[in-house]
Amino acid sequence: LAAETLAVFDGTGSTADGHLVPLLANVGGAVDAVKAAELGAQGVGLLRTEFCFLERDTEPTIDEQVVAYRGVFDAFPGKKVVVRTLDAGADKPLPFLTDSTEPNPSLGVRGYRTDLTTPGVLKRQLTAIATAAADSPAEVWVMAPMIATVDEASDFAAMCRVAGLKIPGVMVEVPSAALLADRILGEVDFVSLGTNDLTQYTMAADRQLGTLAALNSPWQPAVLHLIRLTVAGSIAQGKRKPVGVCGEAAADPVLAVVLVGLGVSSLSMTARSLSAVGAVLKSVTLDEAKRLAELALSARNADEARTRVRAELPILEQLG
Ligand code: PEP
Ligand code: MG
Repeated sequence: LAAETLAVFDGTGSTADGHLVPLLANVGGAVDAVKAAELGAQGVGLLRTEFCFLERDTEPTIDEQVVAYRGVFDAFPGKKVVVRTLDAGADKPLPFLTDSTEPNPSLGVRGYRTDLTTPGVLKRQLTAIATAAADSPAEVWVMAPMIATVDEASDFAAMCRVAGLKIPGVMVEVPSAALLADRILGEVDFVSLGTNDLTQYTMAADRQLGTLAALNSPWQPAVLHLIRLTVAGSIAQGKRKPVGVCGEAAADPVLAVVLVGLGVSSLSMTARSLSAVGAVLKSVTLDEAKRLAELALSARNADEARTRVRAELPILEQLG
C-alpha cells in the first residue's frame, strides 16, 4: 500500500463511522510479539504455542512453558492475548505426540484431539498458561483448536476452569462447529474463526496442495456463509459473545471489510498486514461493509465475490 494511505492507520481498528474492530496479531513467540506490538497490534488474537513444542523429542516442562508464554504476555501489558493450546498433527507433527503413519493426518488426531490419545499434555499446558497468566500484565484468553462438537467445547471449558483460566473459547475451523456455533457459544466465552482450516474442510481441499488453490479460497461463498452462520450463532445465543477471525483471511484488506460486514468482532493477522487492513477498513462505513458482505455472499464463485468487492473500494486505486 502507498505510504500516504498507510499513514491513515492510527493503531485503532475502526470503520469510517467509528465502529470499532480491534486489529490483533497472530504470533508464534516472544520475538514476534514484540514486533507486533511495535507495529500497532491492539493485542494478540492467536498465539500459536507450537513454537514451544517443535523441534523437541520430549514435551517441554511446565516451567519451560511458563517462561515462553510469559515472554509473549510481557509484550502486551493491559492488552488481550489469546493463547491457542497446542495444535499438533497434520501440518505440524510432533514425535512425542502424533502418529506419523496416519493415512490422512488432516482428518486424524490433531489439535484438541491429541488429548484423547496423549492425555495430560493439554492439562499441563493449561497449568503453564494459567501460571504465566497469574502474574502477567496481559489479559489472557485461551482457546482450543480443531473443536468439532459441543461436548468438546464444554469439556475444554471445564478443563480451563479447573486450571484457573477464566476466559475459555474455541476455534471454529471445522464446519460442524460453525453449524452449531450457537450451542458452542453456550459453553464458552468466545470463538475465533480459523479460516485456513475452515476453508480446507468446507471445500475438502488440502490447504497445502497448490493445485487446489482456487478451491481453497476463503472467498468461496460457502465459506462466507459458514462465517455468517457463526456470527448468527452468537446473536441467537443472546449475549453476542465475541466472534473473531484469526485465519489468513483477516490479513486480506478487501476480505477484512467483508468479514466486518458479516459481523465479526475482531481481526487477527500477521503484523505486517495491520496497517493495510486498518487503512481499507477506515475507508468504509459499517453499513457499506454490510452491503459488500451481501455482494460477496451472493456471488457465484470466489473470483466473482472478490472482483465485486474490489470494484466497490475506491481506496484500492490509490494503493500500489
Ligand atoms: C486456521 O486454521 O485458520 C488457523 C488460524 O490455524 P492454523 O493456520 O495454525 O491451522
Ligand atoms: Mg487451524
